[in-house]
Amino acid sequence: MKSINAFFFCAILVLSSCSGNSVNQREPYTREYQVGAYLWFQTSGEYRALCYQAYNLARLRLDRDLEDKHNRKRALVFDIDETVLDNSFGGAFEIKNHLDWDQDSFNRWVKQRASEAIPGAKEFIKYAVSRQVEVIYISNRLSTQKEDTLENFKRLGIPAKPENLYFLSNDWSKEVRRVEVLKKYDVVMFFGDNLGDFHKDWDSKTSDERRALVDSHQQDFGEKFIVLPNPLYGDWEKSLPKSKKRSDLLKTVL
Ligand SMILES: [Mg+2]
Repeated sequence: MKSINAFFFCAILVLSSCSGNSVNQREPYTREYQVGAYLWFQTSGEYRALCYQAYNLARLRLDRDLEDKHNRKRALVFDIDETVLDNSFGGAFEIKNHLDWDQDSFNRWVKQRASEAIPGAKEFIKYAVSRQVEVIYISNRLSTQKEDTLENFKRLGIPAKPENLYFLSNDWSKEVRRVEVLKKYDVVMFFGDNLGDFHKDWDSKTSDERRALVDSHQQDFGEKFIVLPNPLYGDWEKSLPKSKKRSDLLKTVL
């Protein structure tokens, strides 16, 4: 009898360890390395200063443009996430609770309408509207998220017209939507935290290609392209080789 009991005890141990393994077959949690980036984004004065610098520069650039005549209406094109709206709270919640990012978790976040304004964005956009400049948003938020986004904008006092929201339909690239806007308006500047917010050149490129293309567009930054800092996520991260450990990608001179 004792040996039968011992057999069942061992069998239960084996089964429970097997089920444990199946749970652990998920990819290991890999977001710990983002903690520093989130802390910098949420707590550093330097982050806020860079945002103000971007929007102050844009104001100078817009004022200069307002002295010129245009045949068509002027427009400014903004990305939304981490350009106008701060979603870091959603990502920080995921990291603290050891959750991975996915579209569903982002959808839940957008529904809360809890994003805050990126420093300087609201004041600049309100100024542009007061100078009769059309404000356009090209975002890869889903088309079904327009209402939540507009309500979030409204709560923050950021101007936005429903007809000026160009959200994701088919193509993750913003090029088609950008061309559509350029057919109607003279776009003075594009605002974004991701190089794909500015030009199709940066769509689906490797890390080295992206950097070389930035060099070839050097004159456009601060002139036509206004970049907001975002160390949290972006195409820069997707462009890294998947096969290597992140620490192996660090460059040293030693
Ligand atoms: Mg963005």
